[in-house]
Amino acid sequence: MAQELDVVELYNDLHKTPELGFQEFKTSAYIAQKLKEMGYEVTTGVGKTGVVAVEKGGEKGPCVMIRADMDALPFKINGEDKVIHACGHDSHCAMLLAIASRLKGKIKRGTLKLLFQPGEETLKGALSVIEDGVLDDVDIALGLHIRPSSDIPDGTVAATLMHSASIFVRIDVEGLASHASRPHLGVNCAEMLAAIVQNAGLLKFAPTLTWSMKCTKIEVGGAAVNVIPDKGYCMYDVRAETNPLMKDMLEKLERSAQSTAAAFGGKATMKLLGDVIPACEYDDELVKEMSDCIAETLGADKLRATSIGGGEDFHFFKIKKPSLRTAYIGVGTGATPGLHHPDMHMNPASLINGVKVMVAFALKYLG
Ligand SMILES: [Zn+2]
Ligand SMILES: [Zn+2]
Repeated sequence: MAQELDVVELYNDLHKTPELGFQEFKTSAYIAQKLKEMGYEVTTGVGKTGVVAVEKGGEKGPCVMIRADMDALPFKINGEDKVIHACGHDSHCAMLLAIASRLKGKIKRGTLKLLFQPGEETLKGALSVIEDGVLDDVDIALGLHIRPSSDIPDGTVAATLMHSASIFVRIDVEGLASHASRPHLGVNCAEMLAAIVQNAGLLKFAPTLTWSMKCTKIEVGGAAVNVIPDKGYCMYDVRAETNPLMKDMLEKLERSAQSTAAAFGGKATMKLLGDVIPACEYDDELVKEMSDCIAETLGADKLRATSIGGGEDFHFFKIKKPSLRTAYIGVGTGATPGLHHPDMHMNPASLINGVKVMVAFALKYLG
């Protein structure tokens, strides 16, 4: 048994050292120290700055991993660079440490694995810890994130947090330069890009699912206005409720851009800027169990069915290990004015709800 740590005290400590993704040196040192004091087997430097703690029970059972992210966000305020915990990842680490202190000595079956993941905001942290083999023995992966007051009320917990798939796309176009008085001798990339954006807007996708696909940047032409431009590009921000829908959207966007450019006698090349951030693919049974666990632990009035999130690199876990069962809760902490806002603040007293739910849930499998 370890002494039960106070989640608000942990949060106050961690809140003082906001660090950017893959630079969470002080944060990971603090976390590793606390975990060692509790008597956990601790590995540091996982996926560069991540920390993993493990506790095995005497009997056979599943390996349940609970994951918290560690990094803060960069801001420029009055011309000054600042790093701020505006997404609440300090509170996630505080919850996971408080969870760790309550589970120590209570694991009878299987394995408890606690992952403090670096670089979530860079969307490269999950992939980086996966490369270091963190998932190899894991059967169930659980995540948690605080929710703003605009999503769910302070003091409630959502049984599942819906994240969509997202990606940035760049489409480069090639035409042919000519004098603007001889447009028939050129292939105009400004017109080509305009047509690409217009045709992409006519693409059709499953109306039962939510999605958005919009051009967010166009650059074409040089200083001279009397030249038919021969090069340019546009960028898209694409989001989809499911991973198959994202695949469909990207295939259609590429085909539409290529055929539109070809109709002008030009060429369009589409590339993805990084990996597609996957949409959530939760295990229905686990989500149901989580929902029951919230109602049992906190009372049915504190249970919310779902909350909506943006992108989350947690979902690379399921993509990279399809046999994995995942669930993810949203902890209502009255965060305001909203996540990723430099003035984001919340009610840390509500973090204990996330702690209680995760402890109760983990003990169902490992206790
Ligand atoms: Zn964030
Ligand atoms: Zn976040």
